[in-house]
Amino acid sequence: MAIQSAKGTYDILPKDISKWHYLEDIIKKTCQLYNYKEIRTPMFESTELFIRGVGEATDIVSKEMYTFLDKGDRSITLRPEGTAGVVRSYVEHKLYSEPNQITKLYYMGPMFRYERMQRGRTRQFYQFGVEALGCEDPSVDAEIIALSVRIFKSLGLKEVKVAINTLGDKESRLNYREALIKHFKPIEKELCKDCQRRIEQNPLRVLDCKIDKTHPAMETAPKMADYLNDYSKLFFEKVLSYLGDLKIDYELDQNLVRGLDYYNHTVYEVMSNAEGFGAQSALGGGGRYNGLVEEVGGPDIPGVGFAFGMDRLLLALEAENIEIPIQDDIDVFIVSMSEKTYNYAFFLQEALRNNHVKCEKDYFNRKVKAQFKQADKLNATFTIIIGEDELNNGRISLKNMKTQIQEEVNLENVVNEIIKRLEVKDE
Ligand code: AMP
Repeated sequence: MAIQSAKGTYDILPKDISKWHYLEDIIKKTCQLYNYKEIRTPMFESTELFIRGVGEATDIVSKEMYTFLDKGDRSITLRPEGTAGVVRSYVEHKLYSEPNQITKLYYMGPMFRYERMQRGRTRQFYQFGVEALGCEDPSVDAEIIALSVRIFKSLGLKEVKVAINTLGDKESRLNYREALIKHFKPIEKELCKDCQRRIEQNPLRVLDCKIDKTHPAMETAPKMADYLNDYSKLFFEKVLSYLGDLKIDYELDQNLVRGLDYYNHTVYEVMSNAEGFGAQSALGGGGRYNGLVEEVGGPDIPGVGFAFGMDRLLLALEAENIEIPIQDDIDVFIVSMSEKTYNYAFFLQEALRNNHVKCEKDYFNRKVKAQFKQADKLNATFTIIIGEDELNNGRISLKNMKTQIQEEVNLENVVNEIIKRLEVKDE
């Protein structure tokens, strides 16, 4: 039996790759516009990094990691998310070495989580994200939200909703945590197994539980807003006011907590409202993670970032019927009439490529008719037809495939003639 791709993975085939290039290009250009620099970190890291950097109590670490021992008995994990690796690299290479410096980074690439599969959820998936490290100013929180919204707009997505909340600073979050434990502890037994574990480890996540979301204790749970200290309140007000200045629509959602342990202050999430998008409506989100750099062994440096699912963004484009411009045509197809001209076609092809003309030729010594068919299939703008007589006379035929007009040009000028015509086409 033929071997198939591993469960939870899929191939991105050539017919679909243009969509990915298009998406990657918009991400790259937008990040550059905001002066974020690309960073590429390894696909696997030591397991310890994710335990510390993502948090032991999270679903990701407790259930979903691809962890194994390598041949040297080191515990290795395929990265389930991007932030921990980026922060590890930031600390390892001391990218913070200058004071009062903000380090703005972005990444794209595959992530791995052992999850139950469904539409929009696979075990290898792709994320892009940004991290802004070194600055605790609410304008940075607002900037990353603006950056993500700009990407959605550039893609043409309309049905997106931004939900935002604050978890406050460390002090506020700790007070809130105590209040939640006090609230949920007496009814602990009525909650699901995961929540019973979460109550002590990370009670904020109880609010996020899909199983217990209809339990009456959820309604009556204490609200974060009542536990924010003045600094946290002011910080959040500033973030919202920046978003207001930019006319970015958002909804306040007091139950938004995000899955990872390390968030504080701003948290936000972006959902697709497009009809038919399916149950997995989250496109991504992020927030502030002051404390994470210290957690992975660096100095006390604040950070804020987001991560979005690239597979999901492509699904959102599909759900909103947005056509992606695909540039898959070729400029020239060389049709050759005999074996002698076949060899010349090979030479001419490289001469055209030396001048950045995208071209193809026949590789099978096929009949002329079949070669023209191939030229049509490849959407060639021009064909060059080389016959033996023409070759001897130093003349060659050029055919515009759209207008079907055929003309003769001098053999030694053919490259220039093609370039001239392609320039007219591009104007
Ligand atoms: P998270 O780091 O869990 O907040 O994930 C951020 C985004 O990555 C999600 O909103 C999804 O768009 C995407 N994502 C996370 N897990 C998966 C998965 N298993 N399959 C596809 N996309 C995913």
